[in-house]
Amino acid sequence: MKIRTKATLAGWAIFMAVLALLALAYEARDVWLRIAISVLVFALYFPGNFLVTVLFRCQTCGTSIFDRRGSWVASWPAKTCATCGADLTKQ
Ligand SMILES: [Zn+2]
Repeated sequence: MKIRTKATLAGWAIFMAVLALLALAYEARDVWLRIAISVLVFALYFPGNFLVTVLFRCQTCGTSIFDRRGSWVASWPAKTCATCGADLTKQ
């Protein structure tokens, strides 16, 4: 499996888990259960996204494949590396 496919799947897995937990929080009757699930969403979403950014990097220079030119970051993986211009579709 290519690095862009893995990164996309990992991002989608986190996004879907967050949506499922939010649906669960919406359905929960007990207010403390709602708060607990919401805390879990934050605990999953931000470290999860950080992990995806750290794990999926250009094999040539180590730049995150979500990085774009300058300080821009996108939520989908780039086709070419923002720093070295390597073709990420072949990694
Ligand atoms: Zn690179």
